[in-house]
Amino acid sequence: MTQLSTSTQPTSTSAPAAGPIIVAQDVQKHFGNFHALRGVSMSVRPGEVVVIIGPSGSGKSTFIRTINALDPHDGGSITVDGIPLQGARNLDAIRREVGMVFQSFNLFPHLTVLENITLAPIRVRKTSKAEAEKRGLELLRRVGIEEQAHKYPAQLSGGQQQRVAIARALAMDPKVMLFDEPTSALDPEMIKEVLDVMKDLARGGMTMLVVTHEMGFAREVADRILFFDAGQIVEDTTPEAFYTNPQHERAKAFLGKIL
Ligand code: ADP
Ligand code: MG
Repeated sequence: MTQLSTSTQPTSTSAPAAGPIIVAQDVQKHFGNFHALRGVSMSVRPGEVVVIIGPSGSGKSTFIRTINALDPHDGGSITVDGIPLQGARNLDAIRREVGMVFQSFNLFPHLTVLENITLAPIRVRKTSKAEAEKRGLELLRRVGIEEQAHKYPAQLSGGQQQRVAIARALAMDPKVMLFDEPTSALDPEMIKEVLDVMKDLARGGMTMLVVTHEMGFAREVADRILFFDAGQIVEDTTPEAFYTNPQHERAKAFLGKIL
C-alpha cells in the first residue's frame, strides 16, 4: 500500500517515484471470434494495491491471467519488472516474479501442506529441502496455520486452504501477487481470515492486483480501483471516488446491484 493515489507524476520533491512494475499497453485477447480484452492499458507501481472489479464476463480473470501468461495475449504489450512478455520467451522469468492465488485454491491433494509449499522452491529454485521447509514453516506462521503443516488439504477448512495457497505463492518470493476472487468460494466466516492475511501483505509493501468485490477490503487497502466492462477498463480511480461518485453509467449500475 502506498501513500500516493493515482497521480503518475511524483508528488514529492525528494526521491523520484519508482517506475511501474507492471505495464500493460493496449492488451488484446480473443477466444476464437470472441474479443475478450479490447485494448486494456494500465500500470502498477511497486507497493501499489490495485483492485479490479466489474460484472461477470467482463474480462477480469482473463486480464490477470495474461499477466503471468496463463492466457497469452494476442495484441498490445505487457511488461513485468522490465521483462516483456512475448509468447514463450521470458515465460519462466515472468512466472518467477508473479505469484497467483485462485478462487479454487488449486492445492495438490496428495501432498501435505508443507509439501505443497516447498515443491516449487525445491524443484524450480533448487532450494535445499531443509531450507525450503524452514522458510515454508515461517510462511505458515505468517498466515497463521503453522500447526497444519503436516496435514493434507482435504483436512483443512476452505479458509485454511486458501491461506496455504497464499503461502505457497509467497514461497517463490514473487515481486507481484495476483489474486482472482480469492474469497468467493469461501463461507462468510472464513472470508475475514483470508482478507486479513491479504491486508497484512499489502501493509508489508507487496505489489498486489486483486480481483474482488469485497468493498471493505478495497476501501481499506486499495490504492486504486479498476472497473472492467466488456473487456475494457472504463474507470481507473481511487476507492473513495469509485464508491462515492462513480463516473461511468455501467459502474453506477453495477454498484447499485452489489451495495
Ligand atoms: P470475468 O473474470 O470478468 O468474469 P473472464 O475473464 O473469465 O470474465 O471472461 C471474459 C469473457 O471471456 C467471458 O465472456 C468468457 O466467457 C470468455 N472466456 C474466458 N475464458 C475463455 C476460454 N478459455 N474460452 C472461451 N471463452 C472464454
Ligand atoms: Mg473471473
